[in-house]
Amino acid sequence: MSPGTLVPWKSSPLLRRALTVTAKWPNPETPAIAAEARRRMVQEQLRARGIRDERVLAAMAKVPREEFADTESVTSAYGDYPLPIAAGQTVSQPYIVASMLEVLAISPWDRVLEIGTGTGYEAAIVGELAAEVWTVERVPELARTAQEILARLGYRNVRVIERDGSLGLPENAPFPKILVAAAAPAVPQSLIDQLAEGGSLVIPVGSRVEQQLHLIRKLNGEAVTSHRELCRFVPLVGQEGWVS
Ligand code: SAH
Repeated sequence: MSPGTLVPWKSSPLLRRALTVTAKWPNPETPAIAAEARRRMVQEQLRARGIRDERVLAAMAKVPREEFADTESVTSAYGDYPLPIAAGQTVSQPYIVASMLEVLAISPWDRVLEIGTGTGYEAAIVGELAAEVWTVERVPELARTAQEILARLGYRNVRVIERDGSLGLPENAPFPKILVAAAAPAVPQSLIDQLAEGGSLVIPVGSRVEQQLHLIRKLNGEAVTSHRELCRFVPLVGQEGWVS
């Protein structure tokens, strides 16, 4: 269906019924409702705000966000906001996930390092875009749950590692693409060191309250930084992040 043919929420019988279908108590219509909610999310939150990378849009239209977050209803998993998860953390708003991934320009043959697995939602999207994903999480409970969900959904190219990701993953470096989903006071030197020549690193840098996305490219051994949009992430806690 083309963008112009979207009906308002209230005139879609499927979406009206969706309000009563919870993620916890799935019914036979859940997959159709989730697919419709994803299609609208891609149209209204991503395309409408300028996300153009068709591979990113297709991955966002495919990965079932409701499997990762425990929301009231299936459709609220696709709202235009971050979602609270265990251990006081959040899953990023869909637009922020898409915009970070668009900036990274991941190729199908890339190996990607993600710091801050959280639920594993973003790692699954990256799993759709890249050959191999290494995702690092410091909270054991989150790492374990993400691992289980990713395995259940069949993401065999995504590995979850439990440790302080502010130090990266030196044993598997260098990485052509690095993505940090938590806010740092400054760009960790370990991550710059582990970036491959010609590679890109996206990371929110700033205070604990507000940050700006930084895109760092390694060109002839030198890190070249450009500044993108303002954002708000939970803190990167670790040796090369915040103390607590
Ligand atoms: N991308 C995630 C959301 C990330 S929220 C998703 O799609 O669900 C940020 C995550 O970074 C939190 O889970 C937090 O525990 C984790 N984190 C914070 N500091 C970290 C560190 N030093 N190493 C690894 N993970 C860290």
